[in-house]
Amino acid sequence: MNEQEYPALPARIARLDALSRNLWWAWQPEARALFRRLGLNLWVRSRKNPVAMLHELDPERLEALSGDPLFLREYDAVMAEFEDVMAARRSWFADTYGDAGNGGIAYFCAEFGVHTSIPIYSGGLGILAGDHFKEGSDLGVPLKGVGLLYQKGYFRQRLGEHGEQHAIDEPFHPDSMPLERVWGNGDDGSHAIVTLAGRDVHLGVWRLAIGRTSIYLVDTDIERNHPDDRALSHQLYRGDLEMRLRQEIVLGIGGVRVLRSLGIHPGVWHANEGHAAFMVIERLKELIAEDVPMDEAMRRVAASTVFTTHTPVPAGHDYFPREMMERYFSEYVTGFGMDLETFWDLGRHPEDDGKFHMSALALRMADHRNGVSRLHGQVARIMWQGIWPEGVEDEPLDGSAGHSPAAAPESFPTVANAAVEIPGAPTVAEVPIGHITNGVHLPSWLSPSFRELFDRYLGPDWLLIQDEPALWERALDLPDDLLWKAHLECKYRLFSVMRQRARRRWREEGSAASQVIAAGTLLDPEVLTIGFARRFATYKRASLIFSDLDRLEQILTDTWRPVQLVFAGKAHPADHPGQELLGGVYRKAMETRFGGRIAFIEDYEINVARDLYSGVDVWLNNPRPPMEACGTSGQKAAINGVPQLSTLDGWWAEGWTRLNGWAINERQPILLEGDRSSRDEADALSLYEAIESEIAPLYYRRDVDGVPRGWIRVMKHAIRTGGTGFSARRMLKDYVERYYVPAAVSVSALESVSESE
Ligand SMILES: *Cc1c(COP(=O)(O)O)cnc(C)c1O
Repeated sequence: MNEQEYPALPARIARLDALSRNLWWAWQPEARALFRRLGLNLWVRSRKNPVAMLHELDPERLEALSGDPLFLREYDAVMAEFEDVMAARRSWFADTYGDAGNGGIAYFCAEFGVHTSIPIYSGGLGILAGDHFKEGSDLGVPLKGVGLLYQKGYFRQRLGEHGEQHAIDEPFHPDSMPLERVWGNGDDGSHAIVTLAGRDVHLGVWRLAIGRTSIYLVDTDIERNHPDDRALSHQLYRGDLEMRLRQEIVLGIGGVRVLRSLGIHPGVWHANEGHAAFMVIERLKELIAEDVPMDEAMRRVAASTVFTTHTPVPAGHDYFPREMMERYFSEYVTGFGMDLETFWDLGRHPEDDGKFHMSALALRMADHRNGVSRLHGQVARIMWQGIWPEGVEDEPLDGSAGHSPAAAPESFPTVANAAVEIPGAPTVAEVPIGHITNGVHLPSWLSPSFRELFDRYLGPDWLLIQDEPALWERALDLPDDLLWKAHLECKYRLFSVMRQRARRRWREEGSAASQVIAAGTLLDPEVLTIGFARRFATYKRASLIFSDLDRLEQILTDTWRPVQLVFAGKAHPADHPGQELLGGVYRKAMETRFGGRIAFIEDYEINVARDLYSGVDVWLNNPRPPMEACGTSGQKAAINGVPQLSTLDGWWAEGWTRLNGWAINERQPILLEGDRSSRDEADALSLYEAIESEIAPLYYRRDVDGVPRGWIRVMKHAIRTGGTGFSARRMLKDYVERYYVPAAVSVSALESVSESE
């Protein structure tokens, strides 16, 4: 599985090779245009994957381009920029912190969503990790990612005539991905070994370059491993509990060993979600091996560890039965001098004694802990109160308590911020979990039309100063007609993508006529269009809008102010209620009574997502609060001028200003316990009410030139909110300032204290 060389690239344009193998190109419009210029058909067919494309390009075409002055001018400009970025010593991080990041920041995550061509993610968690790295490259934050290379990808979704979901294994060819095999010292190039219940598993490594940062993907599918162990890194979130445990050992313990084999010695370690928490145990083991006493080792590991939790649902956290844990861990922990009870206590859940909880382990062994929105911070503090029954000891040496709450940025314009609070929730001082609200990587999620508009009206350097709030005030002055035009371009693009897909399936696979309708062929770009796309988990309530079918039919088929719905999303192959839900929605899209005004786009992934967020008029988000930790799709919509209609959950509880979108059931209190479905009915009524009496009238109120000025005002406020408070730049700077740098500082303080003793 060596990466292959491309068929001879002419010397003059040979650097296309390097460019194609670093995902930096993916958020540079000029670099994307360059690849598109190589051959539009191939670009589309490869799903915008330059590695796959370069393998197939006709040598004559390449030869011709290498002599085409127009192409060469663009080529040279892109390459100069690329080389500049890659060589630059200066960056925001280096300028601000000098070498505080010595050794870098290891970032462990079970999934990474960086590009459509690398299907090793399932949803929000992976996309967030991908955005963290893209922003890390832009800011020069020395991030080193650790994940698993899932050789069978996630899955591609096909929907059958009755709404059944077919999960199709994704063809996975590392050769046509921007992956580089990194050879280790093992005689077969492997890097390290983990022992799983007595059997050695050798670990291979692939590197994924994201601009100036790298993600190292651990691979167990190498020849010398037992077939069962080879399958370990095949699929994400599939298989049984034991498979999950084995994967998490490979990620956490194997990941640390792989970094060591690569000569990487991070100063700070970030576990993004509990899956990676075993990394703390391996690092304890390393310190013990250097004769550091257990207490001191624990202190040092905790001081250098950041843990981000993403799951407000107790059942969503990973835990493993004791018997299983003992099989995998007895020898390992006793081998370095920790007794089993001590180990067991680290993963003990205050209310669930029989299991080992990954989040409990991570919370105990990380001094820096956070939820991913203000509301989720509160929920996390309530959920995990029991971990600190006696309160918290004094925090790190320099007094930079790692749990200072990251409030919504001070500059954030809270006009009438909803400020949802859970009554009686413990304060951060009592439970040491803070929050950093998620954000999205602007250059990755901005549609080309809006990127151009911003370049023109926010100034050519707007991306460089994107976290200056004053910049986003200027969004309110974007010219109405051009903003509307940019939006319509996005809408036409989305509708055209839907038709193309429908046509291809109709022609090549003979889909049923009702499926052609459900694919969106009857949608009308003049009509108010509401988008909804997410994993089909039941708490996200994809079918809430179907609560009253007669009322919905009325709304969708209204003569003067009709409405359309576009859905997308996958259900996990083992989640039967989720698949039921999905099938139900898909069958609605095929029903004649809705007149073809409901569409379902198959196979929700990054490319579809980008077109969808920017191409609808309203983004709908209706989870049962407080089950959505943050939600980022609405942020991606907002920066493209697409306002959100959402329950006050996740980021909307701090992002809604009344001017930038709509809230569902604003006054409903948030229930942490009991039957949360009791609010479904009230939420549905509020949802219909918002569409009928606010959203549709505003959308269809046009000036003589056909431009809806009132609507455009909401669009502008959405852009302003998204840009000011919910970019990956703001998020990553928060992580650096509140957690990474204080962690690096307190660790070196601890180390120098113990050295001078
Ligand atoms: C942003 C994104 C998500 C996560 O969106 P949520 O609002 O958190 O559900 C999932 N999948 C894709 C492809 C995305 O781009």
